[in-house]
Amino acid sequence: MQLKTTHWWKVPTDQKIEDLLSLDILQSAAQLLREGGLVAFPTETVYGLGADARKEEAIQAVFRAKGRPNDNPLIVHLGHVEQLPQIVPEVSTIAKRLIRHFWPGPLTLVMKHRGNLAKGVTAGLDTVAVRIPDHPIALALLRLADIPIAAPSANLSGRPSPTTADHVWNDLSGKIEILLDGGPTNVGIESTVVDVTGKTPIVLRPGGVTVEQLKKVVKKVTVDPALTHSKKKPRSPGMKYRHYAPRGELWLVHGDEKKMVRTIKQLAAQSLAQGKKVGILTTKEHAKQFQATLIQICGSKNKPEQVAHQLYHCLRRFDEEQIDVIYAESFPDNGLFQSVMNRLNKAANGRILKA
Ligand code: AMP
Ligand code: MG
Repeated sequence: MQLKTTHWWKVPTDQKIEDLLSLDILQSAAQLLREGGLVAFPTETVYGLGADARKEEAIQAVFRAKGRPNDNPLIVHLGHVEQLPQIVPEVSTIAKRLIRHFWPGPLTLVMKHRGNLAKGVTAGLDTVAVRIPDHPIALALLRLADIPIAAPSANLSGRPSPTTADHVWNDLSGKIEILLDGGPTNVGIESTVVDVTGKTPIVLRPGGVTVEQLKKVVKKVTVDPALTHSKKKPRSPGMKYRHYAPRGELWLVHGDEKKMVRTIKQLAAQSLAQGKKVGILTTKEHAKQFQATLIQICGSKNKPEQVAHQLYHCLRRFDEEQIDVIYAESFPDNGLFQSVMNRLNKAANGRILKA
């Protein structure tokens, strides 16, 4: 692939959307999107890699830059809910209710589309995934571009998603035209993907909006069985791939707190004795008990928002120190921790240990 010059532009993080709309750099980035270029930008979840969702060539460039499998469809980002009818012919009552409560925000809805998007965006499916992000820079860019923008996470496929401009740069410099730096993202993990094509909404991927939050708004919500049974085929194509993973071998350790800590201690000692570089992903409550080459504290065991916010940064730190084997703590399977556990399970790719 021919290398591109990637421009890294810092965008002020303390301005309102109305002020951002008049910034030259955002206007240029929006113009480039309209011309078929690739622009990475911050959202409230992770950094996205944006391209015109109607242009097949631009979409193919996204797949190439990320090394993403072609059967994994992209999320279309809009700047206004008024744009939705351009790509979706019908919005159900349930979808409308979810939109009212959660947009702009980390909720992606899967709906039947009109057939006017590039084939690559939907991977040939009759549905499209759509959301409106809750970030002033993303919203200003999307409104200036005024077209539907497909934006998967701005990382190399399979690696942890990017939550800072540095992460994007490490993965995609030379492959995209513009990187808009808006500082670290807030939520830290991706959006929740919900299929609203049927009577009952189905969670296809847990994320920034929790199942409990969804249930407060719509009475019945189901969760794709493939999320809990590894042998079932997921309804969201992306969920079948190993994902969110550092390069070292990650082992996820289950079990009650005391046993889990004891097991991680023993495993780390064994691996250190074998001459391996050992990483531990832990919480501030347990960190002092461990010895390893690199200990990453992703927050407090009582603060799922902190853990989600720092998770990918911690996973990437293991790569920077060329860690061979990582032992990760488990979290309860509810609330935002459920989304964190989904990512850790994907990163572990079946390497689960029971303490
Ligand atoms: P990413 O943009 O990398 O955060 O991934 C987008 C996620 O949304 C992947 O898991 C995709 O498989 C999923 N997705 C996108 N479009 C659809 C769709 N039409 N139906 C089901 N899942 C989708
Ligand atoms: Mg992704």
